[in-house]
Amino acid sequence: MSEVKQTTYWKSLKELANNQEYQKFAEREFPENATELTDGVSRRGFLRVMGASVALAGLAACRRPVQKILPYSKQPEDVVPGIPLYYATSMPVQGNLVGLIAENHEGRPTKLEGNDLHPASKGGTSIFNQAAILGLYDPDRSRSPLYNGNRSTKDDFAAFAASHFANTSQRIAFISEANSSPTYNSIKQQALSKFSNASWITYEPFGEDNVVEGNQIAFGQRLRTHYNFENADVIVSLNDDFMASTHPNSVEYAKQVSSRRKVTDTNGEMNRVYAVEDSFTLTGSYADHRLKVKASEIEAFTYALAAALSSRINGLGAFSGYSNQFSDHKWITVLADELAANAGSSALTAGFQHTPEVHAAVAAINQALGNAGSTVNYLEAPHIDDQNNHQAFADVVADMKAGNIDTVVMVGVNPVHTAPADLDFENALSNVETVVNLSDYVDETAKRVTWHVNRAHFLEAWGDGFSYGGARSVIQPQIQPLHDGLSEIEFLNTIVSGTLASGYDLVQNTFRGYYNSGFDNRWTNILHDGIDTTDNFDAVNVRLSSGFNAAMNRAVSNVSSTSGMEVVIRPDATLYDGRYANLGWLQELPDPMTKVTWDNVALMSPATAKSLGIEEPGAGQDDFDVVEITVNGKSLKIAAWIQPGHVDDAITLTTGYGREGIGRVASSYVDYTAGGVDVYPLRGTTNMLFASANVSKTDETYEIACVQDHHSLEGRDMYRQATLSEYKDNPDFASFESVHTYPVPGLAEAKENGDTDGPISLFDEQTFPDYEPQWGMAIDLNSCFGCGVCVIACQSENNIPVIGKKEVKRGREMHWIRNDRYYVGDDADSPQAVHQPVPCMHCELAPCEQVCPVAATTHSEDGMNQMTYNRCIGTRYCANNCPYKVRRFNFFNYPKEYLTTGDDPDIIQMAMNPEVTVRFRGVMEKCTYCVQRVNRAKIEAKKETGSPKPADGTVKTACQQACPADAIYFGDLTDDNSVVAQMKRNERNFQMLEELNTRPRTSYMAKLTNPNPALA
Ligand code: SF4
Repeated sequence: MSEVKQTTYWKSLKELANNQEYQKFAEREFPENATELTDGVSRRGFLRVMGASVALAGLAACRRPVQKILPYSKQPEDVVPGIPLYYATSMPVQGNLVGLIAENHEGRPTKLEGNDLHPASKGGTSIFNQAAILGLYDPDRSRSPLYNGNRSTKDDFAAFAASHFANTSQRIAFISEANSSPTYNSIKQQALSKFSNASWITYEPFGEDNVVEGNQIAFGQRLRTHYNFENADVIVSLNDDFMASTHPNSVEYAKQVSSRRKVTDTNGEMNRVYAVEDSFTLTGSYADHRLKVKASEIEAFTYALAAALSSRINGLGAFSGYSNQFSDHKWITVLADELAANAGSSALTAGFQHTPEVHAAVAAINQALGNAGSTVNYLEAPHIDDQNNHQAFADVVADMKAGNIDTVVMVGVNPVHTAPADLDFENALSNVETVVNLSDYVDETAKRVTWHVNRAHFLEAWGDGFSYGGARSVIQPQIQPLHDGLSEIEFLNTIVSGTLASGYDLVQNTFRGYYNSGFDNRWTNILHDGIDTTDNFDAVNVRLSSGFNAAMNRAVSNVSSTSGMEVVIRPDATLYDGRYANLGWLQELPDPMTKVTWDNVALMSPATAKSLGIEEPGAGQDDFDVVEITVNGKSLKIAAWIQPGHVDDAITLTTGYGREGIGRVASSYVDYTAGGVDVYPLRGTTNMLFASANVSKTDETYEIACVQDHHSLEGRDMYRQATLSEYKDNPDFASFESVHTYPVPGLAEAKENGDTDGPISLFDEQTFPDYEPQWGMAIDLNSCFGCGVCVIACQSENNIPVIGKKEVKRGREMHWIRNDRYYVGDDADSPQAVHQPVPCMHCELAPCEQVCPVAATTHSEDGMNQMTYNRCIGTRYCANNCPYKVRRFNFFNYPKEYLTTGDDPDIIQMAMNPEVTVRFRGVMEKCTYCVQRVNRAKIEAKKETGSPKPADGTVKTACQQACPADAIYFGDLTDDNSVVAQMKRNERNFQMLEELNTRPRTSYMAKLTNPNPALA
């Protein structure tokens, strides 16, 4: 056969090199010795690694569970055992509510979905929304108030509060996470009125303070920037990963951006996305053009762009005549032309961590372009503080050190771990007589306080708040607090009033204030819909402030950047600032770009690695070189990771790792669980984003569990893409014939034989009865940006276990969706990156079914490749014969280990999805198209219409429902009008490894890019 006519796709530098060592590794499929069943993993190791995550998978894994159950003596209304109920609620993310729907089984929430009615989710979710259910049942959560480290009760805490806070003249510092709750902010005002010497600081390690400060400089008002990317034809991101889950409004933004890339025919148009960034981000990988610029040079780049625009549009006189090292850069001219040509329909964004001056310049550019009111709004968010919180936080820490603070009250924050290192918060805390905190875990801060109060999970408590754009909604509890914790409003109210009040009453009181009449109906509607009003915060008609020009003149003459090596510290893609560190699902979710699990690493470009003498270990090896990084006299050692597409002379570090003592999953245990390094010690008040650094290679190595080379397709034809104009010229670019120089094997022979099913096959044709629906899936690679939400949604829905770092290293990860990230082209320094979710393909002529000696994997009448777990004898022939490598094998009975000695199994088992069988040692498993959802929909359809064919859209797989980019289509292929059938008819539709004639029911829609010819 002839060569495949396509671009090079590679997962790692090793695959790009494709030497003999790599080929041998890829052929082996699993690392050496990885398939041994006899390799012992100690019980102690499992106990450490699993926390709630594996225990979820495990309850039913005990083959003979002994359980005593009692029926209801009186059946509660609406509760039918086995039939889930759904309630609306919301999850606070950095203070902003994301609307969710919680699935409840007999009073216990088991799954979270996006709320279609809520503007911040519109039915989508982030990885943090999906993993929140695991947080609820985390056995390591704090379980009671502690007084000086000793177990206490919330009544004792209330008694303490009544007496201690009776002194209203004491000097109190409240340090709180961001919180948009009107109830919370009302109690906050009560606190500030009651305590005459109180101060209030909102502290978020990666909050939006600099954006608000920037808008203050630009417009003289402390406003939130809220984009409407649906209206944007051109989007320019200046180091802003706004599509990633780490952004508080990522779900809404991902929906908006991807909605403008749904090309269904050759008349379709797409937005164009540019990313200027130092490290390779998800937004950068989705962009049509990506430019590598050091984080410290983003400011200069922004001013150069503003200066170039000042000669094209009015309103940027402050930058007129300014020039710097970027002024002659091709990108500046191209971006200035593009933005000016799309004035009013473009959007410029900058990462939260960049300076207020960068945000001021970005705001001024958007204003001058006429984007304000169209693609971007500046919102009055009532909860945004009237002060520079960075400065206020530094001031209050200085006051603590000076002995000027009598009591510190901390709500949801963990500054001992996350505060800028130069403030030495821990030391300051020791100077305060009384310290009170509310937190989820007995974390680094909670260990050092007088009174610690365990926080109720948001699924256990009443609350309220606003979405990022300002829609008001309610947090509705789904279950009684498992550990009798207090919510933020209950905690704060206890401090202010000295009594324990119910969160329900507090929230209802707030909402009664909104309505003059008809409260009961309005309240019922809010609880039903999960949204009170879809009105946004008031958008302000902005104009440049009188001080803007002077501020920018100062800024452009003081542009700071580093020379030589710089270190950049960012929130981690899966653990954020560390608050999600004890969730095994997120620890084991591969980083979307590096595909590293359970660890953070020092990212650097291939050229930087070379200059430092860093080399990657060989194929199948996982001992990575360790570098020592020194910033302002503080040093740490961390494994080096060569990241194609990273800017040179810079290292990127991420937060959240290297924790001690907050929980079994988060804490560092070599071999089994999370490792990584706490990088906060390198972050100071003067280098919240970047700093000059000394970096040197050490003699040490460190083992990393990375999945990027696991389940390799060994360079076969699995991904297709073209530019929008190529698609318009050749709509069939994604067809087999367009990519290959030979026809589909066996097709000509089939035609000769008059066989209309497709190419001839060695396998018997399946028969699919007309009365059954025929399920199929299409994944739009033009929408998918690799966020991994589908992976966590699938894990939550299907009780998929976490297996720990040691097992991942052996290639035994259990995820039913593998999210492949490919680099494209031959250039390791500046490649494009693309993402491809790979679940089971549900082949009609499935190679796995042909080799199973016990018929444990077979085909259903509705076209699904199904597993009969109790028939499986674990030969793994099916996995060997699957060309897509999507089958997963349970090498151990992890859950049984856990449940025989673990903590509190009564709580852990509550997170199980009772509709999904749990697998045990020696059993193969893989994507089922969420057969439990499919069958429920079929039963409902049959009851209503007599046919098992549900109406299109009534059944969604977990991955499809969760995807914030609406990249996954699923439905009945016998319904010509179903969305999935339409997608399958689209010219962009193609099958992975079509030449094997497996006839996969899951297919892909080829990716399109929309490059600017000026940058070709
Ligand atoms: S398909 Fe999966 S990885 Fe891709 S955008 Fe959707 S949720 Fe994210």
